[in-house]
Amino acid sequence: MAEQCVIGFDMGGTKMIAAVVDASSRIVGRARERTGAEDGAEAVYERVVAAIRGALEKARKPKIKAIGIAAPGPLDRRRGIIVETPNMGLRKFPIADRLRREFGVPVVLENDVNAGVYGEYKAGAARGYSNVVGIFIGTGIGGGIVLDGRLYIGATGNAGEIGHMIIQTDGALCGCGQHGCVEALASRTAIAKDVAALAGSGASQFVREEVGTDLKGIRSGVLAGAIAKGDRRVRGVVERAAHFVGIAMANCANLLGPEVIVLGGGLLEKIGPMFLKEAERSMREHAMESVLAGVKVVLASLGDDAVPIGVATLAREPRARA
Ligand SMILES: [Zn+2]
Repeated sequence: MAEQCVIGFDMGGTKMIAAVVDASSRIVGRARERTGAEDGAEAVYERVVAAIRGALEKARKPKIKAIGIAAPGPLDRRRGIIVETPNMGLRKFPIADRLRREFGVPVVLENDVNAGVYGEYKAGAARGYSNVVGIFIGTGIGGGIVLDGRLYIGATGNAGEIGHMIIQTDGALCGCGQHGCVEALASRTAIAKDVAALAGSGASQFVREEVGTDLKGIRSGVLAGAIAKGDRRVRGVVERAAHFVGIAMANCANLLGPEVIVLGGGLLEKIGPMFLKEAERSMREHAMESVLAGVKVVLASLGDDAVPIGVATLAREPRARA
């Protein structure tokens, strides 16, 4: 079994995780490194290699058959190049080539949200289903699609941008330049903006006392705390966001007819059941009845392990992407 291990690597803006994943999609060794983008691309690359070696050490140095790297887009999958990662300092970086030469195994590159959805499909909350939509809510909103058991990446490789599904054509401006994308209405960033305004006007005493009106301080844990203390204004803001996510889910259900929609991400780890209930209610209100009967809505179950497990499995199965 040992020779069936694969490396799954999650590159983030602040930290990176390398995991050795066995043939049953279990993590048998892992290591972390800080990203340290300010030190430049070569330093980041050296830490990638160090994290992989560290994870192999912890797993007692199994032979590996492939490496999967998950990074925020845009990526050139065919040539294995990270095109641009604003907060990681990597531009046009040929990471697949470099790692292939370093470790002597094939290297696969995938978008991190796609990898996370695929991980939940292979080993988490969507295990056992073949048609899956994943929606991950954090500072932005990311999405991924599994159709008939394969990750759907579309003609350009960039399909699954559920966060930029337009919900209100005259809504808030999104980072992508459009108005009223679900990301602009319901990401943690969007929620924090509204909650900061509540704190500023004195309408949320809890948030004002905890973190003031600084957007950066209004993290998922603060929102969860305010709701737990019975802050109805904050709860209202979060419910409104869930309502918008539910509309995006309804659109996904109408278009794709998935068996399961997985909701995950940092915000959902803190207030999952409450958010899911409201989002599912909104989805059922907005989708066609003919598609709804078959759709389950569940919370992601793998947390930070979803991305390394997912990208490791993609590296193991070259035909996993459609
Ligand atoms: Zn957008």
